[in-house]
Amino acid sequence: MLTFCFRTRCARTLLATMAAVLLALLPSAVVAQTQRSDNRVARTTAVQPVRAAKSKAATKPKPPKEPAGYSEIVPGLERATAAAETQGPKPITAWPTGRKLIALTYDDGPNPTVTPELVALLKRKQVKATFYLLGESLAGQMRTAALLQDPLFEVGNHTYSHKQLTKLDDASVERELTRTEALITSATGRRARTMRPPYGANNQRVVEVCERLGYKVILWDVDTNDWRKRTVDQIVQTIVSGTEDGSIILMHDRLPTTVPATERAIDALRARGFEFVTVSELLSLPRASRAGTAARPAGAGAKAPSSAATNL
Ligand SMILES: [Zn+2]
Repeated sequence: MLTFCFRTRCARTLLATMAAVLLALLPSAVVAQTQRSDNRVARTTAVQPVRAAKSKAATKPKPPKEPAGYSEIVPGLERATAAAETQGPKPITAWPTGRKLIALTYDDGPNPTVTPELVALLKRKQVKATFYLLGESLAGQMRTAALLQDPLFEVGNHTYSHKQLTKLDDASVERELTRTEALITSATGRRARTMRPPYGANNQRVVEVCERLGYKVILWDVDTNDWRKRTVDQIVQTIVSGTEDGSIILMHDRLPTTVPATERAIDALRARGFEFVTVSELLSLPRASRAGTAARPAGAGAKAPSSAATNL
């Protein structure tokens, strides 16, 4: 009897202990389950950084409005959007070749005062450059645009009315480009092979429409922000400190700073061993990695760069 009682008490104590252990384990099991759920949520949100960035941007106070025609924004959000989509063509921000070749680019012209002065400077210095012409500027400046027939220069398409292409339907994007293209051809006898979207605003659909019409979409990796009333010193400093092999430098040929800043930047960049080419010349060369400065030797088994790997 004593033995039975002892065993029963033992069994009861054992059962009580097991119950206590189970109760103690239960909350941690629930916590573990919750943590797994949180991880799932985290994983779900991790693949949507662009959406998160958009909502964050939407709540930010808007910067003061720039004068009409003087606004170019850094295309960070649009670039992130493009980068998030892995399929299809992408805009180009830089094209390193391992040869310290770079491209000066000028948007929104032609301008009746600045463009001829800039053309004269570039010809005197024998510097190649690319001009992204705006249809609305071209319409009254066909003779100025004719100055860009010189072999030093490439002409590109910057649309007709400087609208944000991501807000237009496909047919409107096409009209913006074809209307300007007709003026470019009429003024220079050339066809634009590259285009730059106003404000850098792009998405997969816009890039595909542009590529279907025969344009490579060109952004930039060095933004002078010259339209923000920067001094010549500030512009030159931005260019010199930001330029790397394959850089595409963004300026505007409609500002009083454009010509003096260009002149000083050319001298400083040449002193650092950079050479100037047009955007299309840059893109015609095999793309190298910026980390490794040596270009891949031709015929050494180097594969032609695929669009997914090379377009930034
Ligand atoms: Zn522009």
